[in-house]
Amino acid sequence: MKLSHPETAAPADAATRRAIAPVVAYPPETLPAPDLALYRAARGGAEKVAEIVIAPRDAGCFEVPAGSFFRITCIEGPQVGDLNLWNAANLSERFYSGKTRALHGTHLSTGDRMWSSLPWMRPIATITADTLDWYGFDSFGGSVHDVIGTRCDPYTNRLLAGGTYHHCCHSNLTRALAEARNLAPAEAEALVHDVLNVFMCTGFVPETGQYFMKASPVRPGDYLEMFAEIDLLGSLSACPGGDCSTEHSSDTAACHPMLVEVFRPAAGALAGWHSPEPNSYDRSHGL
Ligand SMILES: [Zn+2]
Repeated sequence: MKLSHPETAAPADAATRRAIAPVVAYPPETLPAPDLALYRAARGGAEKVAEIVIAPRDAGCFEVPAGSFFRITCIEGPQVGDLNLWNAANLSERFYSGKTRALHGTHLSTGDRMWSSLPWMRPIATITADTLDWYGFDSFGGSVHDVIGTRCDPYTNRLLAGGTYHHCCHSNLTRALAEARNLAPAEAEALVHDVLNVFMCTGFVPETGQYFMKASPVRPGDYLEMFAEIDLLGSLSACPGGDCSTEHSSDTAACHPMLVEVFRPAAGALAGWHSPEPNSYDRSHGL
């Protein structure tokens, strides 16, 4: 956070320097564009092949084959979910929140893609439907589905509030992955990563840049849907913060279950689509 009373005097040309117009750091226009029309046509004839209900203050894993869709739905009351995605065949390749943010902005919606970690760095999922896309940005600068938060975790909670709490999203995701892949807790924990905050409403306080949250506008029936570009293992935690209107990392907030469904398109519905290859950079790094 910037000092409210800086220790360094502003230079004579401070106003000129501040007046320089920004440029978008990573213009995404040259990225390979998803064929949303093709995806939507395929989704139209898709059949549901699996579902999992995520219990409040807990997480669950699910598999989504490349070329299938998964939908995360709010079912009983406002609830935010913390989403992790891995390459189902190689858990080292996982969702890269920071680069996704640099490419698509602080909050994601339809047409945005979830990018994977280096050195693979490819789109591993594409958002195909978002019933909260009407929200846009509110007067506080808040919006939904952010890639700016990380996930609530017991370490930060211990520093800020003390005590021991086992149902932060970080721990929920760790337990779910350990169970799904029969991993030791420490192995699973190391694979848990920064999330997509599904349905969470967040932003930055303009004056200080501090991360804020506010009550999610999500209501039962709202959903976020994605197309799996590669074989995915997903994990979703129903955050102990509930709608994240007050606090997380405790059993105080009202929490609700969430539904994840997987849909498989009909054979031939994705003609012309190919699962993206890993990034083609040769990894020699100038050596
Ligand atoms: Zn959480």
